[in-house]
Amino acid sequence: MAKKIGILAIHGDVAEHAAILRKLKLDSVEVRTKKDFKNLDGLILPGGESTTISKLAERFGLIAEIKKFAKSRKPILGTCAGLILLAKIGLLDAKVERNAYGRQLDSFEADLKIPIISKGPISVAFIRAPKILSTGKVVEVLAKFEKVPVLIRQKNILAASFHPEILGTTSIHKFIFLNAK
Ligand code: GLN
Repeated sequence: MAKKIGILAIHGDVAEHAAILRKLKLDSVEVRTKKDFKNLDGLILPGGESTTISKLAERFGLIAEIKKFAKSRKPILGTCAGLILLAKIGLLDAKVERNAYGRQLDSFEADLKIPIISKGPISVAFIRAPKILSTGKVVEVLAKFEKVPVLIRQKNILAASFHPEILGTTSIHKFIFLNAK
């Protein structure tokens, strides 16, 4: 049976993540309530507006569920606002600054070297991205852009300041959810 990956679907780029999961033949489930966490094999916290996502997630009682899920050691992928949320709720030992790469108009694409995932470069998009200012000891830096960490891992949690889902690469989702390259 295909693995079931939940996507926190309060706001943000849920459809784009679902499309990548489909390409990998993984099932996706939109997560909006506590009961949606049942039987998930992995979880995605997508990009969007982190203040909106965290306020609504709190109101719907989902922050506690995300924390519980993280303890289960199942894989979690947080992208952009998802990374901000993970740091904010204490699941990721990192200091991040919101919007530190500039405004919407300053959004850009980049070809990243991520040796643990791929020999060749991976094209991704930075959209009003947060900057990772520092990371704790338990955090591994898997990729940097202009000397700044942009992809980090803390045990079962992978977090990116960019969007891997927009330009169509499946490699990052494959790495975290299928444990494969
Ligand atoms: N700028 C957004 C925030 O601070 C994040 C942007 C994104 O997720 N693309 O919440």
